[in-house]
Amino acid sequence: MPKQRTFAKSAALSGIALHTGARATLRLCPAEVNTGIVFRRADQPGRPEVKALATNVVDARRGTTIGTKETAVYTIEHIMSALHVSGIDNALIEMDGPEPPIGDGSALPFLETVLEAGSVEQDAEAAVWTAATPLYIAGGDTQLILVPADELKISCVTVYAGSPVETQYLQVAVTPETYRREICSARTFVDYRDLRQLMTMGLVKGGSLDSSAIIHDGAIICKDALRFKDEIVRHKILDLIGDIYLCGRRVKANIIAIKPGHYFNVQLAAAMLKQI
Ligand SMILES: [Zn+2]
Repeated sequence: MPKQRTFAKSAALSGIALHTGARATLRLCPAEVNTGIVFRRADQPGRPEVKALATNVVDARRGTTIGTKETAVYTIEHIMSALHVSGIDNALIEMDGPEPPIGDGSALPFLETVLEAGSVEQDAEAAVWTAATPLYIAGGDTQLILVPADELKISCVTVYAGSPVETQYLQVAVTPETYRREICSARTFVDYRDLRQLMTMGLVKGGSLDSSAIIHDGAIICKDALRFKDEIVRHKILDLIGDIYLCGRRVKANIIAIKPGHYFNVQLAAAMLKQI
């Protein structure tokens, strides 16, 4: 059995938050064994904390938000993705606002900060999530199938029906190496129609072509060249790796994801949590 791990030291990342447009700092701090991943709002009275578990998700429509009666932390999926792959079991993520910085819309800035913090083994065995039975989550056009396996492997398909944006498919055995090379730098994509709606809701104030690519009339608009020809499906895998970590354990399973999104990813994580 692997041992639990936490950060060797603290490390911080600053930048603009996606929805509020305010400057945000996220600080990664070591934590005791069996803490799990805990977010702390250092800007609020009493510095409330919330544990990153599917049962604490309060909204998963646009990104993954966890919260309690007192507090909420938005858009945690990219930092969760970097923590999952890096095998960090225990961490205190201190925030000075409701959202982490969006960075370039990928998990790369988070992974770099996690690597800067380094990691140490702790004196307790790490719990690994393995499937007792297969799981199936479906709704709308989305289907998520999880079957037992002794490594984390994800096969993902994205489809933009009625759009010239091509259907993308990728299968990846998720390791720190494959994640770094093939997944972590894939950026967020937003549909222009959704973007307009979000803007009228007063959201995405910090959004720009620095932090996401836009799909409009079947074309992809982004600041630089695409980082991968199939960058959309790679980012969907990045998000899924972050969302399933809401089961509270490193995951070993084979997941087939057709048109995944945060809402159903979190339902899968909740079903996984129930199996523990
Ligand atoms: Zn994402």
